[in-house]
Amino acid sequence: MSAAPDQPTSGSLPPLPGATILGYPRIGADRELKKALESAWRGSTTLADLRASAADLRAATRSHLAALGLGGPASVPADFTYYDQVHQVTTALGAVPERFADLRGTAGQGFPGLGLEEYFTVARGEGERAAAEMTKWLDSNYHYLVPELDETTPVRYALGFGAVDPTDGPVAQVLEAARAGTDVRPVVVGPVTYLLLAKASDAAGRDFHPLDRLGDVLDAYAHLLVDLWAAGATWVQLDEPALACDAWDVPEERILAAVHQAYTLLSAVTERPRILVAGTYGPLGAALPVLGATGVEAVGLDLVAGRLPNAEDLATLEGKTVVAGVVSGRNIWRTDLSAALSTLEALRDALPAGTPVTVATSTSLQHVPHDVGRETGIDPEIRSWLAFADQKVGEVLTLARGLAQGREAVADELARDAELRARRAAHPGVRRDEVRDAVASVTQADRTRAPYPERKAAQDARLGLPLIPTTTIGSFPQTAEIRRARAAHRRGELGAAGYEDAMRAEIARVVALQEEIGLDVLVHGEAERNDMVQYFAELLDGFAATEHGWVQSYGSRCTRPSILWGDVARPAPMTVAWSAYAQSLTDKPMKGMLTGPVTIMAWSFVRDDIPRAQVADQLGLALRAEVADLEAAGIGVVQVDEPAIRETLPLRRADRPAYLQWSVGSFRLATGGAAPATQVHTHLCYSEFDVVIDAVDHLDADVTSIEASRSRMDILPAVAAHGFERQLGPGIWDIHSPRVPSVEECTELLRRAVDALGAGRVWANPDCGLKTRAYAETEASLRNLVDAAKAVRESL
Ligand code: GLN
Ligand code: ZN
Repeated sequence: MSAAPDQPTSGSLPPLPGATILGYPRIGADRELKKALESAWRGSTTLADLRASAADLRAATRSHLAALGLGGPASVPADFTYYDQVHQVTTALGAVPERFADLRGTAGQGFPGLGLEEYFTVARGEGERAAAEMTKWLDSNYHYLVPELDETTPVRYALGFGAVDPTDGPVAQVLEAARAGTDVRPVVVGPVTYLLLAKASDAAGRDFHPLDRLGDVLDAYAHLLVDLWAAGATWVQLDEPALACDAWDVPEERILAAVHQAYTLLSAVTERPRILVAGTYGPLGAALPVLGATGVEAVGLDLVAGRLPNAEDLATLEGKTVVAGVVSGRNIWRTDLSAALSTLEALRDALPAGTPVTVATSTSLQHVPHDVGRETGIDPEIRSWLAFADQKVGEVLTLARGLAQGREAVADELARDAELRARRAAHPGVRRDEVRDAVASVTQADRTRAPYPERKAAQDARLGLPLIPTTTIGSFPQTAEIRRARAAHRRGELGAAGYEDAMRAEIARVVALQEEIGLDVLVHGEAERNDMVQYFAELLDGFAATEHGWVQSYGSRCTRPSILWGDVARPAPMTVAWSAYAQSLTDKPMKGMLTGPVTIMAWSFVRDDIPRAQVADQLGLALRAEVADLEAAGIGVVQVDEPAIRETLPLRRADRPAYLQWSVGSFRLATGGAAPATQVHTHLCYSEFDVVIDAVDHLDADVTSIEASRSRMDILPAVAAHGFERQLGPGIWDIHSPRVPSVEECTELLRRAVDALGAGRVWANPDCGLKTRAYAETEASLRNLVDAAKAVRESL
């Protein structure tokens, strides 16, 4: 590698075409990758078969995108990876956690990178070796594998940046495409984002931050550029979504210095493709002029989640191409073409004269399904308002034509879009006056329950629970039998009555088991729920379900989010019959189970035509009616799950107060009508409690259960420091693994919780629902949990 900033040899490369997308779903329209991965993991097929399927999928995607009209050099992104784009970099560098140290170097050639089999081992874990930690990618529903670094973790370039041999990495994808006659644009997670998304390993020194390894990472990336160049790549896309977040644990100056160092160094590589740095998931902010001052050839702006930068910052992009992300990669709504064109025109006017503008998506399209044309089950009127990945490619092309040739050139498309938009606005389900009126007349009093001490007294009198009451989070194991009954019911082979009988039998079994084990607050087990959001989406007005709308959640796992398109209303009670039946079987309190407004929104595609706060309140009112009906049916404990409050927290600090205001407000609207004697529970699925503890406190639930067992009660100091007044169930059994915790272990965790919070405030429960567990470990663990609660109770 040699540095000569003033004379990049890439000067003669082709410019970026006028239209591109930043990435495309890699799982396949029929989840081909999922199937190929799972069959290889089962051992039904070989890694060679998997590679062949992946190559077929990539080839199909390239020709599909070309057929949709993405043409010209570097227009089609090459962003394939088998499991996760962050893990691709980690395994290429050999930077895997120490517990997997023996897997380094399995890619061969004397480099520390991992082979494909080992790439999967780290992603999925093996025996006692826990898988790499997984967490949400920015504010999306996609999960990446978190790099764990310290001072000595190997960070070294492996030829081709591939897992295994180079055949799987970006260099190989460039070569593969070239053989097929396509000049693709490889996409790699950028070096600054890679390090910001990493965490310090347990072995790291106290002052270590992953950014300390920037020099080593840049050295590897510089080698990658050289190899991409040798493979014939004309452009490379480095994604820097982490720059949209301003809530990292390092000062902004340090991040900006890293951006400067990274892109000054990488652009100084003499033999390299041109570099597009894509700022996605929000505005680049202060990083924009820093990038402007480096030698990269193009900068991508997210103009959906971000705003048009000011003219001064835009002036720093002189001489570069600006990639304008005006078509959302995050939602499934048609783009407002006229508004997007106005944004593009304003951008062009604000940029230095002659600055080339490429029209693009705001992020990769990995968050949206493939093709709305296949959704023949959705009302055609509603379907006409939607755009999945393929339709979005069309929008990008239309907008590029409009920008280049003027609005007249796309007059037909603009007219059609305006017409569909008007029809959508006028659709009776989109605006229901009774729903709007109900939301408009919500008062603060509706979101306010009686003071906690009053509620506590009323609940104690009604429920008569012992100290350290025991309960579960809601679901019990979903057995093959339950799944079969549900599938048969869906296919119409099992009638309503037969299905109901099957579910009732399951509920009776689960209730009897809990009584026998000796739990204090029982649940019905959620056997009837396929999914905690979809279940409610199917019963509420305002939602549509897709048939093929799968998006990757992590690895081979996909979800099929519902589409929230209209005003939300509850035509009939949704859970009352199941809960009332369960309550009729026992004298112990039965907990009614609902999913909260924020979580329903986070795991659906939410309408873009009214503020999210209003959607949340519509859901809040629907759930409020459900709570009232549960109470009327004799249910004295209601849990409203809000596992997603933390994950949809905005990336920018300035946006957080408003978000927390409406999200907390919608939960309080859902629960605010409950009588003082009704005990309201909530459940959150993570342990980074400190970030949202204030908001969780404001939910004003009587009992909050959270994940804590994996972090060995790390949350307790934060809770104690905050002075959390109400009851807390820090999970004492990590349900994410089949391991059965011993009575001693459960007792020890409970004691710690009692010491920190006081005996009157602690509940004993697992740290999440049990639907993914089997009965063997569920029974054993719950018995130990109940014994531990008894032991601690007696010792007090
Ligand atoms: N009540 C749900 C269950 O037990 C909660 C699941 C969750 O927190 N994700 O399955
Ligand atoms: Zn949970």
